[in-house]
Amino acid sequence: MIIKNVRAYYAAGSGPEVKAVDGVSLAIREGDVLGIAGESGCGKSTLAAVMSLTARPPLNVKGGEMSLNGKTFSLVEQAKFPRDWHGKMVALLPQRAMNSLNPTARVRDFVVDVVRAHDSTVRPRAAIEQARERLEQLSLPARVLESYPHQLSGGMRQRVVAVISTLLNPQVLIADEPTSALDVSSQKQLVLLLKLLLECRFITRIVYITHDLPMLSNIANFIIVMYAGKVAEIGTTQQIVNEPRHPYTHALITSTLDPDLRVREHQLEGIRGAPPDLRYPPTGCRFHPRCPRVMEICSREEPPIVGEEERYAACWWVFEQSKTAGGKEAQS
Ligand code: ADP
Ligand code: MG
Repeated sequence: MIIKNVRAYYAAGSGPEVKAVDGVSLAIREGDVLGIAGESGCGKSTLAAVMSLTARPPLNVKGGEMSLNGKTFSLVEQAKFPRDWHGKMVALLPQRAMNSLNPTARVRDFVVDVVRAHDSTVRPRAAIEQARERLEQLSLPARVLESYPHQLSGGMRQRVVAVISTLLNPQVLIADEPTSALDVSSQKQLVLLLKLLLECRFITRIVYITHDLPMLSNIANFIIVMYAGKVAEIGTTQQIVNEPRHPYTHALITSTLDPDLRVREHQLEGIRGAPPDLRYPPTGCRFHPRCPRVMEICSREEPPIVGEEERYAACWWVFEQSKTAGGKEAQS
């Protein structure tokens, strides 16, 4: 899957639009787990909505295209996407998935809804049988089909929703902070389940979104760091975690390694403030007001892309560093 130059803004009454995603491109190969990291308010869920074809007003897609399985569509006209892409090509696993479920319906009713939304000729009994088989293949108890949401633990609910939302074998599963409401052991179980879905080839790619960057080393092989609606840095998990280049990535890693949860959730190590109000994004590099490496040019001009398609940082400081490093190499 490739998405190119996605721009998605929220309409905000008579005021300026919220530029929540502003020129994001990315590629995910078959078998990949792509991690997307960034603080709260950086546009991750907005990007998830666009990629899962679930963007609805006030969120408006202003630009960008998506390619998958040899087909390319403009994301601006989501209505023109083939109907069955949603769920069959791309599926979304939201943060508290089961909360959106009707509490008076059993899990089996949810299964029937999901399957029949795509193929109304499937008999309810066949849909339930399909789910039973899938649960067993994944070593989950098939009796959950008879349960009501409140009868399952939070962790089991999230696992069950993950299984059901991938029943149609979507090409891409987009998991938006899927474990943030779970305890540590349920988090691990969900991550294991997602990996198993990939190994069994029920899905072929995962986009895993989190504010907890170090956590991604458990699941992702590629990582994109987002700041204020843009890509700050991209690389393999090894590169991002062990050799971060962008000052924002540095800060994100240092602060999320802090054992104090309040620090992890609310501030970046040595960097004050919060992501900007995206109605009025800072000029030049959007990170410049908080950046410990800020230079004069950073507030004036958009940062250059330093590196290659699969390994780059968008940063003036990294650009300067690369010139010095290049110069030294040339001299020796
Ligand atoms: P993240 O998932 O990284 O926390 P979001 O995609 O939820 O970020 O939000 C990105 C930006 O869009 C934030 O500035 C947020 O305040 C804004 N935003 C989110 N939802 C809406 C909405 N419905 N209307 C206006 N602005 C919104
Ligand atoms: Mg979010």
